[in-house]
Amino acid sequence: MSRLEVSFLGSGSSGNCAVVRVNGTSVLVDAGLSMKETESRLALRGSSLDAISAIFVTHEHADHAHAALDLNRRRGIPVYASRGTAVAGGFPGPLFADVRTVAGGKELTVGDLHVRVTSTPHDGAESVCYVFADAGGRRVGIVTDLGHLSRVVLEALAGCEVLGLEANHDEDLLRSGPYPPYLKKRILSAVGHLSNESAADGLKRLVGPRTGAVVALHVSRHNNTRALAERVFREALDATGSRATLAVARHDAPTEWIGVY
Ligand SMILES: [Zn+2]
Ligand SMILES: [Zn+2]
Repeated sequence: MSRLEVSFLGSGSSGNCAVVRVNGTSVLVDAGLSMKETESRLALRGSSLDAISAIFVTHEHADHAHAALDLNRRRGIPVYASRGTAVAGGFPGPLFADVRTVAGGKELTVGDLHVRVTSTPHDGAESVCYVFADAGGRRVGIVTDLGHLSRVVLEALAGCEVLGLEANHDEDLLRSGPYPPYLKKRILSAVGHLSNESAADGLKRLVGPRTGAVVALHVSRHNNTRALAERVFREALDATGSRATLAVARHDAPTEWIGVY
């Protein structure tokens, strides 16, 4: 059987982009790195933009969407986004060649990947997350940029073979850190970003017997550390008895291919 796998090319406020692939189908999740950087990080993982069938944009914030136009116009890669994201991101303008609308609760297929779209609680116009499944029903679920783990998100991502979950900040570091009060308030709100602690609570409910790998995503460089996120996630995994591997995505380099056969 072929391998369903993901590499997080970059993760965090300086740019989010992941590549998910199975058989001959590869797609990007978000386009928050420059086109050049996306290309060079794909090359580090033995892939290229030529292999990419689609870009699934979660929301219009620049760290997720800023290269979508370039990739769409210059490389002809179709962009999938919710209507709200497309409008807020300026996608429907004449510059874009090919934008396709998705919505929370909808499902679609691109090549060998089945895609389930779920709404997320975030302060984008209409943010979503994506779960990708292969023909055998194995799933990669990725969710970042959410103020809390809503019921629909928990349902959509429960038991995925590979789970990428935001661990944005440590609440104490954020409260005592350098961010201005309005930004702290935004991040801590119900439509902001997931703290290590909230993510770990959710992780205990999300991992299942088939979960083989967990990746902490969107780790803040100012209000968190990779070691802290790793420790909190490790404790949550240990508490469930899960034997899933654990990785923490970086902002400046791609993870290995993480997947299941
Ligand atoms: Zn973000
Ligand atoms: Zn965002």
